[in-house]
Parts: sequence; structure tokens; C-alpha cells
Amino acid sequence: MPSYKTTIHWFRRDLRLTDNTALLHASADAETVVPVYLLSDWKADHNWTGPARQQFLCGCLDSLSNDLKSIDSRLILRDGGQVEAMRQLIKDTKAEAIYFNRDPDPFGKAMEAKMRELAREIGIEIHDFKDVVLHEHDEIANLSDKPYKVYTPYSKNWFTHDKADDRGRVRVLGKTPANLKSKPVPTLSRWGLDSSGANLIPAGEKAAHNRLKTAFDGILQRYADDRNTPIGQTTSMLGADLRFGTISPRQVFHRAEKAIAETKSGSERESLYTFQKQLAWREFFMAILGHFPEVLETDFAEKWRGLKWDQPEDFPDKWKAWKTGKTGFPIVDAGMRQLVATGFMHNRVRMIVAMFLTKDLHFHWIHGESFFMQWLLDGEIANNNGGWQWSAGTGADAAPYFRIQNPWTQTARFDLQGEYIKKWVPELAKCDAKAFTKAPEGNSPIADDYVLPILQHKPEREETLARFKAHAGG
Ligand SMILES: Cc1cc2nc3c(=O)[nH]c(=O)nc-3n(C[C@H](O)[C@H](O)[C@H](O)COP(=O)(O)OP(=O)(O)OC[C@H]3O[C@@H](n4cnc5c(N)ncnc54)[C@H](O)[C@@H]3O)c2cc1C
Repeated sequence: MPSYKTTIHWFRRDLRLTDNTALLHASADAETVVPVYLLSDWKADHNWTGPARQQFLCGCLDSLSNDLKSIDSRLILRDGGQVEAMRQLIKDTKAEAIYFNRDPDPFGKAMEAKMRELAREIGIEIHDFKDVVLHEHDEIANLSDKPYKVYTPYSKNWFTHDKADDRGRVRVLGKTPANLKSKPVPTLSRWGLDSSGANLIPAGEKAAHNRLKTAFDGILQRYADDRNTPIGQTTSMLGADLRFGTISPRQVFHRAEKAIAETKSGSERESLYTFQKQLAWREFFMAILGHFPEVLETDFAEKWRGLKWDQPEDFPDKWKAWKTGKTGFPIVDAGMRQLVATGFMHNRVRMIVAMFLTKDLHFHWIHGESFFMQWLLDGEIANNNGGWQWSAGTGADAAPYFRIQNPWTQTARFDLQGEYIKKWVPELAKCDAKAFTKAPEGNSPIADDYVLPILQHKPEREETLARFKAHAGG
């Protein structure tokens, strides 16, 4: 028997009807669940998002709104400050409780605290649930009950914990009162943004399930061998879905379990397991952020705090060259152009461009972190910070500072035929791919309409090593 007449489900980064923990509980506990999404009020520039990500969000909200209609419900969109909007909605609906899924990042947690305060003040109940992760940051601890700072022991422990099942699709939410006001599904103009011009993957729960199907139709069975190849689809492409919650981590993990059970091939099993380990990386970085939220402001490794970095404003041409994919390093330029053109960049190339920014240009990772957050559809505060600090050598279980990737040799290893580079840097389409694997000699560019490299890798590498050594005092 439902215990409430009316409750609110506060949609946040869980924009789906299937295996949505809080929504399913709300549906079981109330006669009517009013589904709401609270729109942010910022305008134009934002450090952590940009037009491509907001466009994807709009698509997810549109899809959610249609899915809710199909079960005779209605997505209510409100704005005007999240707390005030929620206060008004409680008044309009006479809701007796708010249901939501917990957010692992500090900004989401801060908003949850405000909602708890509001509920206390009004005298209604709050029910919050684990949903965004398989294991929350304080669930996986070492033998001394302390957080892990290294991935491998964390992931070994992570795999030993039982994983909740996919709980299925919500069927009934009750009819949303017809007189409840709602804003329309937003477009970019709401935030004062113009189209990014990027060609985005389709948004929404159905699109996420199509991607899941494609990924397990052979791609992830070859993941261990192929995942470092940036051309073609070699990874799941589920990052944005996990970020906006159009799919749950349980659905992804258990789909991999099913594929492991279905195959007789040892190498396919290994690949699928390697893929599951990426879900553990996701939760490792979320745990790092949960336990050490200061990583958003500073280096995780205390010993590297205060290291000498250059400022982008002192080298505006180099900063611009990196952002626009005009550094003269084909693999770096291809990655940056893929990012701006699609809101996605392959993981191997993310590492290359991040090392280039931090180790060749000597800019602090925080600048690259923010640029990625503005463009990546899968921009996830914890993973992005983890990836940047890993590349800079300052993070938890990071690449040691002296392991500096050389963009030319990385190209020889991962894009030997130059297919990825030719796809994203059309000026180089007709070049011999060998030219992408070593710096051009003298003053002649790789192609007439392509820039000369803005720097030489070797001396910049030495400069980085010198800075780290000097800071370490040796
Ligand atoms: C500098 C840098 C920045 C990054 N920024 C982000 C980010 O903002 N958001 C993000 O989700 N990932 C980030 N990553 C990790 C990784 O590049 C992406 O998760 C991956 O490329 C997304 O593509 P996919 O969904 O096809 O991944 P798959 O290889 O199919 O992996 C499946 C899922 O596992 C998780 N995952 C995979 N690799 C990692 C990793 N190294 N660390 C944490 N989680 C991982 C993601 O949720 C991903 O969607 C970053 C890596 C680097 C080096």
C-alpha cells in the first residue's frame, strides 16, 4: 500500500525510467509521483559546461519528457533557483516527500543539503538513494578502514562486493495534476548559448540502449586489443549516458556479466572484464573526489603543490593553438578537433593532449580540465579531474612525472596508418602517414596549409623534468 498520496521525484543526473532507484521507490510508495527537473539559471559562460553539453542535456530532457507521457505522467520543468522552485512545487502539489538519487560530486551534495534543510523547514520527508554508482565512496575501504589512493587494490576490493541488480522499468507514476505549471523543454537560448555546431550522438534513454546493444555486439568482446585505437568505434561510447543517467551503471555492468557468461572465448572474457574494470576506474575517481574534494582546487599529491607552471594568459597563442587544434602536432590537433566537432575524444588521445598541455606547454592541468568540461558530453567532474591529474603526474595513482608521452611515437603506436589524423585534420588527408610519426625537419610543414609545430618536444620534456626535479629538491 502506498504510504503517501503525492510525492516529488527530483530528476537530476538520472534521466531515465528504467532501473532508476529513487523513482521506483517513489512509485511504490505514493499514489502520484510528480516528476520534476529544476533548470539552472546561469547565463552564457560557465566553467563546467558549454553548448554541446547543454544541447545533449536538452535532448535527454526531451526524450525523458516523451517517455513520461507514454506512462501517462508529465515532466515538470521549473526554474528560478532550485530551492525556491522546489518550495513552490511542494506548495503547488502538497507533496509529502521528495525522492532523489544521490550525486557523488560536491556541488550536487551541496544542493542536496539545501533540499534537506528545506524539507525540514516545511516538515516533509526526504528519501535519497544510491544509484549513480555501484559502490559509493565510503563503501570500499582498505583493511585500516581508510580510502584507497591506488587503483589496483581498490578495484580488486570493488569486484568482491555484491552488485545490485537492474530493478526494471517504472510502470506507473499516477497522473500529474493538469494544473501544474511547467516550463517547456529547454533549448540552448535559455542559457544564452548559440549552437556549438558539433555533431552530437543522439540523446536519451532509447539512444543509450541502442549504444549498449552496439557495444556488446562485438566491440567490447575485442576491447582489450582494440580500446587504444582511436579510429572507428573501439569503446562503448556510454560515457555521456553514464553521466546524464540515461543508463545505469548496474545495467552496463550486468550486461557485461551476461556477455561473459555467453562467450566460450577466453580472450573475449578477458576483454569484457577489462571493460568492467573501467567502471571501477569511474568509481575510484568518484571515491577520490568524495574523500578528497580538495582535488578540484589543487594537486592530489601534496608534494607537487606549488610546482612551477606557466600561465595561459602569458602564452595566449599557444593556449589558442591547443584549444583550436593548430599546434602542428597532428595527433594533438586531431584530438582537439574531434572534441569540438563531436563532444567526444578517444581516451588514448585524451591522455596525449593532456600530457601535451601539461608537459610540453607547461600549463597547469586545471586549465585543460575546465576546457574539457565545457566540451565533453561525458564531462564528469571526478573522472575528468582524475584523468587530468593522472596525465599531469599529480593525481592519485598517476603516471609518474618522468613518464612523458611523446606525441610522435604515440602516433606510431596507435595511429600508424594516420586514419584518425586524416579524419579530423583534413589538411593532412593526402599526406604519407609516416610524416605524422616524427617532427618535420627544417622549416617545411607536413602539408602546405598545415602549421609548423609550435614547439619541439624534446627540450620541453627536459624542461618539465627539470621543474619537477627542482621542486622535489633534487
Ligand atoms: C584527461 C582525461 C580526461 C577525462 N575526462 C573524462 C570525463 O570527463 N568523463 C569520463 O567519463 N571519463 C573521462 N576520462 C576517461 C575516459 O577517457 C572516458 O571515460 C572514455 O574515453 C569515455 O568513452 P567510452 O564511454 O567509450 O569509454 P569506455 O572505454 O567504453 O569505458 C566505459 C566507461 O568506463 C568509464 N571509464 C573508462 N575509462 C575511464 C577512466 N580512465 N577513468 C574513469 N572512468 C573511466 C567511463 O564511465 C566510460 O564511459 C578522461 C580521461 C582523460 C585522460
